[in-house]
Amino acid sequence: MVRFVLVSDNTLVYDFRHFPLLDFLPSAPSHAIPSTIYKFLRGKPVPATSRGELRFAPYGLRKIEAALLQRYKPEEVAVAHPDYLGKLISDDTEIIAVHTMDPFGLGPTTMSYYALFGGNELQAWVRREWDELIEKINAARIGKKAKLIIGGPGVWEYTLLEDEIERQHIDFLFQGEADEVVADLFEFISTGHGDGSFSNSYVTYSDTFQRSIVQHDKFLSRGNKYKLYPNLEEIPLIVKPSMDSLVEVMRGCGIGCDFCEVTLRPLRYQPVENIAKEIKVNVAAGYSNAWLHSDEIFGYMHFQNFVPNEDALVNLFTTVMQIPGIKITNPTHGRISPAAAYPELIEKLSKIVRAGPRRWIGVQVGLETGSEKLAKMHMPAKTLPLKIGVDGSWQEIVWNGVHNMNKYYWRPAFTVQVGQAGETDEDNWDTVALINRLSSSVVDGRPFEFTVTPLYNMPLGRIKAKKVNFADTLSISALAVYYASYAHLAKMAARDSRKEAKGSPLVRIGTSSLISLGGYIMLKTVEKIARKAGLDIEKAKRYGTSGSKEIESWAVAEKL
Ligand code: SF4
Repeated sequence: MVRFVLVSDNTLVYDFRHFPLLDFLPSAPSHAIPSTIYKFLRGKPVPATSRGELRFAPYGLRKIEAALLQRYKPEEVAVAHPDYLGKLISDDTEIIAVHTMDPFGLGPTTMSYYALFGGNELQAWVRREWDELIEKINAARIGKKAKLIIGGPGVWEYTLLEDEIERQHIDFLFQGEADEVVADLFEFISTGHGDGSFSNSYVTYSDTFQRSIVQHDKFLSRGNKYKLYPNLEEIPLIVKPSMDSLVEVMRGCGIGCDFCEVTLRPLRYQPVENIAKEIKVNVAAGYSNAWLHSDEIFGYMHFQNFVPNEDALVNLFTTVMQIPGIKITNPTHGRISPAAAYPELIEKLSKIVRAGPRRWIGVQVGLETGSEKLAKMHMPAKTLPLKIGVDGSWQEIVWNGVHNMNKYYWRPAFTVQVGQAGETDEDNWDTVALINRLSSSVVDGRPFEFTVTPLYNMPLGRIKAKKVNFADTLSISALAVYYASYAHLAKMAARDSRKEAKGSPLVRIGTSSLISLGGYIMLKTVEKIARKAGLDIEKAKRYGTSGSKEIESWAVAEKL
C-alpha cells in the first residue's frame, strides 16, 4: 500500500537529448516552438521501474523520499513515473506530493522569452506541462482521499497567482527546505495531529530581501517547534539514484548578492564521505559521472574573505574521481573570479578530473552584468578575494577568469541580467561590450568557449497585478544585450552542436542540425525584433571590439 506518492514536474524528467542548453527549452513560449519540435527536442522520459516508479528522480524528490524512508516502510513511499500515476495512486494513498521548479513560467529564463516575444499570455511550455500534470493527478485521485500538496523551489509562484490554488484543487503548499520536517508534515496533513507544528502561512521577501510572514489557509510553514533550516546532520542521504547523477556538496553561499535568495540560507558543507555515499548509489544504477551541486563550488569550505580552500576542493574532486565507475565529474555552479585569481587551482582540478579538448567541464556562472557600476551596486563581494578597482576592473576580472577556465577546458555557461534596479542604457552597452570582447577572444589559439543567456528581471508586482503585457518591455539597450548574447550562442551552436549531440547517428544529425538551425533562427528572430524597435544592429555587433580582430589579452581589449 502506497501511502505517499511523490511526483516530479514533468519538465525535470526528460533527457533533452543530453544537450546542455536544451534544458532551457521548456522556458520557451509554446506559441513560438511547435509541439512536434518541442517533443522531439525534449527527448525521452526517464525509464520506469516495474513498480511504476522513476528509475532516476530529481534530487530534491530523492531527498524527500530518503527522509520519509527513515520513518516509513519502503512499500509506503513511491516516486511515481508520470505514465504510472494511476497505478500508484489508490484508495490507500494519503498524500500526493508534487515537486516543482517553475510551475507557471515566472522564473527569470521564462520571463526573458516573454519580454522578447511580447503578448500577455503567460504560456511557456513549462506551464503547459504543469497544467497537464496536475490535471492527470486530479483525474487519478477522483473519489479518493489523497490530498495534493505542492513543494519545491517554484512554490512561490502560487503566491502571485493565488487563483490557481483553487482552480487546480490543491490542498496545501509548502515552501523551503523540508528534509527533517517532511515526515511530520505528512503526518500532520494526513491525521490533523501535531498542534502548533505547522502554521497556515508562507514567508515572503521584499525587493530588498526583508523577510515577512503572510497568513494563508493553503500554505503550511514550519511552526515554532522547528528551526528555520535543517542542520547538516538532519539532511538525509539519498538511497535511490538521482537524475543526471546530481549530488549536493553544499547549501547556502554567503556572498551576499542583493538579488539572490540563496545567500540568506545558512552555509552547510557535506563532508566528502557523504558525497561519496550518494555518488555510489548513482554508480550502482549505471552512472559513470557525478554532477556536484552547489551555488558556488569555489566556496566549498572556503577560508576567510572567500579565499578558496584548495585542499578541500582537491580532496573533494579526488575522492569523487577515485570512486570505482566514475569517469567524469563537474560542478553545477561557480563564480568566475576564483578562476581569475587562482589559475593554478583550475589547472590542478582539471588534471584531477582529466579535463581536455574532448572533455570540457561545464559550469554555470552568474555574470549578471558588464557594468562596473552595477557589479559594485548589487554584488560587491562576487569577485572576492579580488576587489573591483583594486585588482582590476570588473570586466578585466571576468576576461581573465574565462581565459583561465578555457585554458584548462572549463566552459562557463553565463547568465546576464537586464532590468536590474538602477540600470541605465550605458550599463547595458557595457554588457554588450563584454560579451562581444569575450566572443572575439582566443586562448592558446582557440576561440573562447562559453555560452551566455540573457535573463529579464520582471518586477513581480506586475504579474500579481496581472499587468503582464510585455509589449515594449525591453529597452533598445536591453535588446542589444539579447542580440549580443544570441549572436554568440548562434556562433557556439554552429561550432559545437555536432560534437555535443548524443544518441544514434541519425538522432545526432537531427539534434545538431535543429540546434544550429535553432541558434540561427533565434538570432534572426531577435535581430528582427531589435531592428524593428530601432536597434542599430551594426553597432551591437561591433560594440566594444574592432570587429574581426582576435583578442589575446585584456590589455589589447582595453585599447579597442
Ligand atoms: S554568488 Fe551566486 S549564489 Fe552566491 S549570493 Fe551571489 S548570485 Fe547568489
